Amino acid sequence: MDTCHYEYYMLKHVVWAQANPAIDGMLCIGCVEQRLGRKLNASDFMDCELNEGRWHAQSARLLHRIKRYKRREKPNPIAVWFDEARSSP
Ligand SMILES: [Zn+2]
Repeated sequence: MDTCHYEYYMLKHVVWAQANPAIDGMLCIGCVEQRLGRKLNASDFMDCELNEGRWHAQSARLLHRIKRYKRREKPNPIAVWFDEARSSP
């Protein structure tokens, strides 16, 4: 469990509740994605300072997820679908 305590970020409550129904505790990006069964993207993260990385170093995968689709106001559903299809095992 302790290995999950090195990535600091905040997800939107709905997303977090899906990944971790107990709400309490911390999960790393890998565990959250495993539980959700999909990769995270910018729209899953809360709009808060913690996610801007000023307080903690952010891992490469965390940065990647936070930036994912961020340039678009609304992600193009087809682009999302392709990305999910490509990244699934
Ligand atoms: Zn983990």
